[in-house]
Amino acid sequence: MILHAETALLPEGWARDVRIVVEEGRIASVSPGAVPEGLAHGCLLPAPVNLHSHTFQRAMAGLTEARTAGQDSFWTWRALMYRFLERLSPEDVQAIAAQAMVEMAESGFSAVCEFHYLHHPVGGGTYADPAEMSARIAAAAGETGLGLTHLPVIYEQGGVDGRALAGGQLRFGATPEVYAQVLEGAGRALANMPDAVLGVAPHSLRAVSQNTLARVAGMVPGGPVHIHIAEQVAEVAEVQAAWGARPVDWAVKNLPLDRRWCMIHATQMTAEETAALARTGAVAGLCPITEANLGDGIFDAPGWLAAGGAFGVGSDSNIRISLAEELRLLEYSQRLNLKARAVLADSRSTGRFLWEGAARGGAQAAGRAGGAIAVGQWADLLALDTGDLRLEGLAGDQLLDAFLFAGRDGLVTDLWSAGRHIVREGRHIAREAVETRFRATMRRLREAL
Ligand code: ZN
Repeated sequence: MILHAETALLPEGWARDVRIVVEEGRIASVSPGAVPEGLAHGCLLPAPVNLHSHTFQRAMAGLTEARTAGQDSFWTWRALMYRFLERLSPEDVQAIAAQAMVEMAESGFSAVCEFHYLHHPVGGGTYADPAEMSARIAAAAGETGLGLTHLPVIYEQGGVDGRALAGGQLRFGATPEVYAQVLEGAGRALANMPDAVLGVAPHSLRAVSQNTLARVAGMVPGGPVHIHIAEQVAEVAEVQAAWGARPVDWAVKNLPLDRRWCMIHATQMTAEETAALARTGAVAGLCPITEANLGDGIFDAPGWLAAGGAFGVGSDSNIRISLAEELRLLEYSQRLNLKARAVLADSRSTGRFLWEGAARGGAQAAGRAGGAIAVGQWADLLALDTGDLRLEGLAGDQLLDAFLFAGRDGLVTDLWSAGRHIVREGRHIAREAVETRFRATMRRLREAL
């Protein structure tokens, strides 16, 4: 496959008349200043990875915005989420995941890190294939062509004190032995997907014993390791009371953190924790839309960047799936907090800084050869509608700034994931079938609620 772009964002900067040759899903050559052959796209960008998602939560979007008794919080949201997932069958999980993946691709994500914790039937126990649910996620990725880094979650206990799982949590729970079976089955489910990656995900410090935390990174040698950390104030207090240290402080001192690790949220950190965690090489997995929706707080971006920290963005609860909006809100939350402008920027503009940071950090977190338009990387690319009124006449960094800060949904005309051309003229190629099945699933689930 040969693509041509009037302008493209390469690792060394913006280039004109770029020809990109793709072979077996990977970029085989990149030639600026080439004579166009056939159709030319206006602007090609490296398409970032969505580094954190629970796809099944897409089905709850809009269902948890009313006020309940007392003060609503992350914890009352979690109770509703548990009730909802009491109803999900493996077929439902695949239908919802495929819909979420279609929307991710249309918004510009090339791949997703699925932080997958719904393993078991209602009430606990295992399916005949302990990795049934992982196979459903892999099937959804196969149907939609979205790249997948699959992260089966280990969830052992109901709190830092080691209390037993209860209620909705029984569908997540796994001893290290059952978890090893899930990992093995998940590996089989990914076997025919050339760009798929398997990793591990200890759910959080509150849900996994210290014993397991110490050895979980070794369960998929070399693979990505993702963990929720320091999202909520109450979680910080719980860990501090039980272990005598704040979560990130404890993690930096006790876990083998390095570039394989992705720390999801990392919202509640002191300045010292921020700098120490950034220096480990781990990626900060930021989910600005979900963090705003759940009232988590605001990440210390200036402190993180000053210590050389890597970052990427994820759609987490999938309350809304929009790459541009995640990046916009990441910057806007900083502006509101600091009463300043262009916080996530350097000599590059804010849009360019956000884009390149998220593309690089997302690929690192996913363990995926991507994040840049360069030889040897997967062809994870997106084309923008440069003829749209909001982008017309703009070039370089200003084009990206206009896309992220002044754009609208639908400016992504085409998307390739590892060379698979899955979005064309703004629509995912499987949208119709996936959407029809999703509508039927949602009707049934809502009737049952
Ligand atoms: Zn999450």
